[in-house]
Amino acid sequence: MSLPALTLALQAAQLSSRELSSCDLLDAVLGAHAGRGDEANAVVGLRAEAARAEAVEADERLTRGEPLSRIDGIPVLIKDNMVQRGEETTCASRILEGFVSPYDSAAVTCLREAGAVIVGRSNMDEFAMGSSTENSIHGPSRNPWDLERSPGGSSGGAAASVASGLVAGALGSDTGGSIRQPAAFCGVVGMKPTYGRVSRWGLVAFASSLDQIGPLARTAEDAAILLGILAGHDPRDSTSLAEPVPDYCSALDGDVRGLRIGIPKEFFEAEGADPVVLEVVREAIAELERAGAKTLAVTLPHTPYAIAAYYLIATAEASSNLARYDGARYGHRSKKARTLSEMYTLSRSEGFGTEVKRRILLGTYVLSAGYYDAYYRKAQQVRTLLRSDFEKAFEVCDVIATPTSPEVAFRIGEKSDDPLKMYLSDIYTVSANLAGIPGISIPAGFAHELPVGLQLLGRSLDEATLLRAADTFQRRTDHHAQTPRGWLR
Ligand code: GLN
Repeated sequence: MSLPALTLALQAAQLSSRELSSCDLLDAVLGAHAGRGDEANAVVGLRAEAARAEAVEADERLTRGEPLSRIDGIPVLIKDNMVQRGEETTCASRILEGFVSPYDSAAVTCLREAGAVIVGRSNMDEFAMGSSTENSIHGPSRNPWDLERSPGGSSGGAAASVASGLVAGALGSDTGGSIRQPAAFCGVVGMKPTYGRVSRWGLVAFASSLDQIGPLARTAEDAAILLGILAGHDPRDSTSLAEPVPDYCSALDGDVRGLRIGIPKEFFEAEGADPVVLEVVREAIAELERAGAKTLAVTLPHTPYAIAAYYLIATAEASSNLARYDGARYGHRSKKARTLSEMYTLSRSEGFGTEVKRRILLGTYVLSAGYYDAYYRKAQQVRTLLRSDFEKAFEVCDVIATPTSPEVAFRIGEKSDDPLKMYLSDIYTVSANLAGIPGISIPAGFAHELPVGLQLLGRSLDEATLLRAADTFQRRTDHHAQTPRGWLR
């Protein structure tokens, strides 16, 4: 097993026993990246020198026996939509090319304070809009299980780098599934915390009422370690929750006896879902039953409207959030512009990619006078109904189990000409964002020799139960330990 193939927990153990140094780990990541490591096109910016300085400092702390946290000295990646002082943040968009942040995002501050070594930024769909990481100025990321296939998106670079063994942990963002679906496609763990659990300060906004940062890793334990570092109140994000952060790692006791798992029939009857994927998910749920959990049927009757509501609300918020990219302050300014209005038009036309333009147009339309009531207000009403569906379900169950995606990783190019097809593939993930509840995707097994994800959804702020169930499953199975052939781990 090569160094980066170790989990975060194992890396921490080897750092504290001094078998390894932080510089060793960094060398391994950089070496792997220079070798086969980036055939997946998962990393868009390496900060080798700055990371080296951080690793040297971490080694000094570790030698003194003063580690700052369980990830002190461990290399991780952030997604290219989280700003870091002095570093470029492009959001995989031409419009932000060359934009260097003057400050650190809250997530980066948390990582820094914990002593993590931020080795660079991972590839993504432009402004996190997409489900395949194909909408990137850096070119598509590829799935380590099959390079012809997509790693999912929009945090596809993060999932691919964890799956390939380049790093053991990475941060993603999830507005409608962008952590969980790539985790499922790449056979890793991905968690979207409760809305407000992790500060969005310094996360480039896509849809502010849905966006949430979370961890990708190989094990539930590693996800728990990262979430513990990220979670907590931040007065700079007005939607951040002032709630105490439990010790997520101590929740992992391997015991799910009596846990009530709700099975929503709507999620298993979705049109177009691959029956082989559904079977793998059913079998994973059966494993949790064998561990002592109880299953029961629940209903989430408004599920068929979730995609429509999501794509109305997300595009509306995006059209407003992206109004700031006009050539005046951030990023790209057209050289051809002669007047102020040409500066706006040309900078935006040249700077945004097709999918982002499509969303701005849709979002502007649904917010415009005359259409607002028909679309935007209706979508908000559906959102309330979806939320109350979950509240009712959680009166009788503790977690809800579903597939993460209706299919395994699709081929690059397979859906890129058909936005509707792409949007429909988010059917299982968007509801959690609309309801604000936490969700985790864990490797459940394989279909067509590709990874399948089991999604567990929980009550608001109950990430601990999701992590405990995920960890219990991983103690009993080895799907997460399977590795794509020919890669690092
Ligand atoms: N695939 C969804 C979209 O395109 C979700 C993206 C995300 O979670 N950032 O909007």
